[in-house]
Amino acid sequence: MARYTDASCRLCRREGTKLFLKGSRCFGEKCALSRRAYAPGQHGQARKKQSEYSIQLREKQKAKRYYGLLEGQFHKYFEMASKMKGVTGEELLNLLERRLDNVVYRMGLGSSRAEARQLVTHGHFTINGKRVDIPSYLVTANDVVALCEKTKSASSTKIDAILSSTNGRTVPEWIDFDADKLSANIVRLPNRADIDFPIEEHLIVELYSK
Ligand code: SF4
Repeated sequence: MARYTDASCRLCRREGTKLFLKGSRCFGEKCALSRRAYAPGQHGQARKKQSEYSIQLREKQKAKRYYGLLEGQFHKYFEMASKMKGVTGEELLNLLERRLDNVVYRMGLGSSRAEARQLVTHGHFTINGKRVDIPSYLVTANDVVALCEKTKSASSTKIDAILSSTNGRTVPEWIDFDADKLSANIVRLPNRADIDFPIEEHLIVELYSK
């Protein structure tokens, strides 16, 4: 599967906001955005007047990079959202939140979405008792997402390290996480109010609707 392999911190600096791509580093002094809060590259510190198009483009890039997707994948979610009954921008964000890798990240079992995705791809999670290794799997209400029993015993040190690095992270209300069982019940589908990342989704809709 194609994926972004360049420096993650460049993406945050480009978007001018923390995208939380590097786990605990994002919360410490080593965060590149805290040290160099300007866009990367030779002209990163130049003042630029942003056109309407560039504002919309940046908002789309921000959302896409926050969820760790490539353009084609992100656009497919937009197409799915545009066929849904609700407000397209909100439906888009709700779909992205429902991805299995994001759910694992929200449960605190991945210090970053990239790590959560790797754990999913390696088959460490089950949904309703069946192993699922597809990060783009969309959870639905009443699904039970759980760490495999085998992983719990074989990789307990690693899992403990992840949990201690994500300790204190708030699990959203739509996910009922059981820290003892390392499983979560999807209480309901997420809605716009559950997404705390500052994003103006209407700009993404405007961009794709041109
Ligand atoms: Fe972004 Fe995290 Fe890098 Fe900071 S440390 S720039 S939040 S990826």
